[in-house]
Amino acid sequence: MKYLLWAVVGYLVWRWFKTSKRNKAEESASTATVSQSKHSDAEAMVKCAQCGVHLPISEALLGSGNQFFCSDAHRGSRNT
Ligand SMILES: [Zn+2]
Repeated sequence: MKYLLWAVVGYLVWRWFKTSKRNKAEESASTATVSQSKHSDAEAMVKCAQCGVHLPISEALLGSGNQFFCSDAHRGSRNT
């Protein structure tokens, strides 16, 4: 009966340990998934042909020769 008690205690400890370990693994896995999806959601970055600054492609202005610019001023100064 004494051994049975220890077996139960050992089982509970092992189970608690396994659960806490799995929760941590799941936490890091979900964090990785979030950062991964964030990364895939991130827009392609383009470089301003005038000043070289990087900006999302949706905010970039397309100039002549398929070049991207950060602002209309930089696009205009490039064209003239
Ligand atoms: Zn620029």
